[in-house]
Amino acid sequence: MLEEVKVPPLSLEAYGEVAGEEAVSEIRRLAEPLRGARILHVNATKFGGGVAEILPTLTGLMRDVGLEAEWRLMPGNDQFFNVTKLVHNGLQGMDVSLDQAKRHTYDEASRRFADAFEGDYDYVVIHDPQPAALRSLRPNATGKWVWRCHIDLTAANPDVWGFVRPMVEAYDAAIFTLPDYVMPDLRVGVLAFIPPSIDPLSPKNMPLESALLDDVLFRLGVDPHRPLLLQVSRFDPWKDPKGVIQVYRAVKREIPDVQLSLVGSMASDDPEGWRIYRDILRYAGQDPDLTIMTNLDGVGALEVNAFQRASDVVLQKSLREGFGLTVSEALWKGVPVVGGKVGGIPMQIGDDVAGRLVTTNEQATRACLELLRNDGLRTSLGEAGKERVRRNFLSTRNLRDYLLLFNALRTGDASLVPQGTIV
Ligand code: UDP
Repeated sequence: MLEEVKVPPLSLEAYGEVAGEEAVSEIRRLAEPLRGARILHVNATKFGGGVAEILPTLTGLMRDVGLEAEWRLMPGNDQFFNVTKLVHNGLQGMDVSLDQAKRHTYDEASRRFADAFEGDYDYVVIHDPQPAALRSLRPNATGKWVWRCHIDLTAANPDVWGFVRPMVEAYDAAIFTLPDYVMPDLRVGVLAFIPPSIDPLSPKNMPLESALLDDVLFRLGVDPHRPLLLQVSRFDPWKDPKGVIQVYRAVKREIPDVQLSLVGSMASDDPEGWRIYRDILRYAGQDPDLTIMTNLDGVGALEVNAFQRASDVVLQKSLREGFGLTVSEALWKGVPVVGGKVGGIPMQIGDDVAGRLVTTNEQATRACLELLRNDGLRTSLGEAGKERVRRNFLSTRNLRDYLLLFNALRTGDASLVPQGTIV
């Protein structure tokens, strides 16, 4: 039996005020024909990274609207997660080699996982490549099977994609964040496009008293009265933490008061994170205005919330990014984002709507300087960003899209399949 993750008892009703009553009634209407359906979400970690952030809310809300939804974990050890991180990196375009021994490690872990899988479900949603082999190993399991890809596959390494593709093709449907992410040779019954989402009522995103913000920053060694740049990300080269430090140093030459905080959590399925963390600490050197902290320093959801609210500019200088929940998290708090022009970041920031899109350190530096020097611009971009998130990137929209897809799979009506349109 796979480990089940506890999810919060949520009430859709509470989301009406932020997401709009119309969104709530549409969800109720779409959930009605699915009442009692058994839904299973499976991923590899209950902590760290975007998927672990989305699933508690999605599963909790599915339950509230009458579905029997569960979230379970694929078991794994460091050896397996080292291979799946390589697969992840390869799918994002890194030149990695997946030799026979590594394939064997993946296959063996998948087999143990398939042996531990039990239960009858109506819809099984498998998130990302770690548990992807399950469908082909359990071809007779009940229900419709959906593979939810959270990664940008645009530049996928052909060797690694060749390893993953047959697993994905065993599914009834696949969900991608953007049409661009779909490899042209993928053959799968139904293709849906669904951007991820943030939960506006979770500790990560709920409103906080401003006095609390100062207190949290102060306790963690940051001066709440001086300008603050922030990047919240796992320690991962794709998030370009060194680039962020270079940008901060360049900004500091012009605005000596500025501070930078890098907040990064350690995910249990990301053994590479520790090495990179130590590397970044060394690179940062001794600078009292540059703080680097992790969940192990007591920076949990509330602290991240406080940091995002208290920042003047949030950076998400990724070189590849499936979506980048941290962008919507910052925008929801009215803070403009300077983000890499990659993956899911442009769809959140828009064309200069809610911040600036950049490809080089120089552009990022100019954008930070422009925003730090112009309070009015920061406020207007932040407000536009919040509205964009309200319309497109809240959990209610994500839930609606899943319900549409399940209904499409139930009835065969292709017109219900979500297309990821941004409004
Ligand atoms: N996160 C966090 N603490 C940290 C670093 C990240 O809570 O120290 C959260 C962050 O707020 C976001 C998620 O982890 O909700 C990261 O999701 P994203 O889509 O940005 O990136 P991923 O890690 O999935 O590549």
